[in-house]
Amino acid sequence: YAQTPLVVRQLRKEYADGFVAVSNVDFTVARGQVVGLLGPNGAGKTTTLRVLMGLTQPSGGEIFVFGHRLVPGSPVLSRLGALVEGPGFLPHLSGLENLKAYWRATGRPEAEARLDEAIEIAGLGDSIHRKIRKYSHGMKQRLAIAQAMLGLPELLVLDEPTDGLDPPQIAEMRRVLKRYATDGRAVLVSSHLLAEVEQTCTHAVVVNKGEIVASGPVEEIVGDSPTVRLDVSDVD
Ligand code: ATP
Repeated sequence: YAQTPLVVRQLRKEYADGFVAVSNVDFTVARGQVVGLLGPNGAGKTTTLRVLMGLTQPSGGEIFVFGHRLVPGSPVLSRLGALVEGPGFLPHLSGLENLKAYWRATGRPEAEARLDEAIEIAGLGDSIHRKIRKYSHGMKQRLAIAQAMLGLPELLVLDEPTDGLDPPQIAEMRRVLKRYATDGRAVLVSSHLLAEVEQTCTHAVVVNKGEIVASGPVEEIVGDSPTVRLDVSDVD
């Protein structure tokens, strides 16, 4: 697995109250792929991504990131960039100042050299110099994604990145993610919208009630699976 960005095997997450949010989840994210984790609200998408980020411990199963078993504090986490929960930006600073502050705080000031590239990837343009308190939700979302991409992580994990974006911004996000996965990088992105995954992703992993109901190349998932359509479209 050394070259494989992500291998998830038999993942299980049971919360303290005994609720099993994720069980028997198996999937792989290979280089060059944009994999959509697709499912209705409550399917276990956020739980899965939080486990991958090391934000919560799995109750069972294994996760390998570039061949390294993920354990608390794994150094391999530095090869993974994520937007899981919207970061709290400082409202009186500009978008650019927030990004710089974030990277200073995380102790990787060298990533500042890549600021322009990350901003370009996220398509923020001159808005980067405006104060956060003047940002719309969509702009904050894009800044958060730029932040996740800042170190050009080889594996980028995004939880519902198009949430709150308008249609032109969603279209732009699609282009950003597709471009991002070139050069051997990979993306894992969650969504509750089939159409979005169909248009953005190369592969899909469909989850419902914590279990995988289908997975594979996106054309196969969308084309052959009317049940998938019933389960996950038009939810919300
Ligand atoms: P959404 O799109 O609404 O975020 P999701 O697919 O991301 O949905 P999760 O947030 O992973 O789903 O939640 C899966 C299930 O786990 C839900 O039924 C939720 O109520 C439950 N859950 C989440 N966090 C906890 C917790 N801390 N304790 C107990 N149950 C939880």
